[in-house]
Amino acid sequence: MLEARALRKTFARTVALDGVSLEIGAGEIVAITGPSGSGKSTLLHCLAGIIRPESGEVLFDGSRIDTLGEADRTDLRRRSFGVVFQFGQLVPELTAAENVALPLLFDRHGRQESLRTAHSWLERLEVAECGDQRPGGLSGGQLQRVAVARALVTGPRVVFADEPTGALDSLAGERVMDVLSRAARADGMTLVIVTHDNRVAAYADREIALRDGALAAEVAA
Ligand code: ATP
Ligand code: MG
Repeated sequence: MLEARALRKTFARTVALDGVSLEIGAGEIVAITGPSGSGKSTLLHCLAGIIRPESGEVLFDGSRIDTLGEADRTDLRRRSFGVVFQFGQLVPELTAAENVALPLLFDRHGRQESLRTAHSWLERLEVAECGDQRPGGLSGGQLQRVAVARALVTGPRVVFADEPTGALDSLAGERVMDVLSRAARADGMTLVIVTHDNRVAAYADREIALRDGALAAEVAA
């Protein structure tokens, strides 16, 4: 359903990805692991159509997405993907509930209905009390749970999550993983999670380990 072929991406002189190929099936939960700087976030952003690889291909349902123009990629992301960024990326001027409702509002849902749905996701992530606060007033762990709620609110086909439990203690982290993996199991949603936490990786069907921008298995071989 999601496929990468020989992805390569460099930033100035840093080779972030160096020929990564992989396939992820519908409904699969995949953990991307590896040391800091090994290319995990870059890979996730390429798969999610947020950045373009400089060579190689990304396919979703058999169609190239890396060659789509900016507007079409944004459209695809809104329609089919949910993304939890490693560093928050909530809109500071909006309340947590408005942030979660945003993808629905972009999708032309009514304001009241969108906010109701947003509040119910905040409840599922156990941060209902944060709904009316702005991101600046929330803790790192609360922000992460709000970001997860925002990624799930549209019922996307694929959720890409970059260290979604990094700022959480282990119990809260497990709760977030429970919500994510339950959504995946119940709705056949595909989950691609970057993590350095073995407990998070344990939720995955499969682990893809990176080292120096390449699949660790291939580095070792
Ligand atoms: P971490 O675990 O610390 O989040 P990561 O595995 O997610 O690391 P990436 O963020 O993908 O690693 O970065 C891979 C390499 O590319 C690193 O050497 C990083 O410094 C570099 N890099 C990533 N993004 C940029 C950027 N926007 N500009 C310059 N260099 C970048
Ligand atoms: Mg990263």
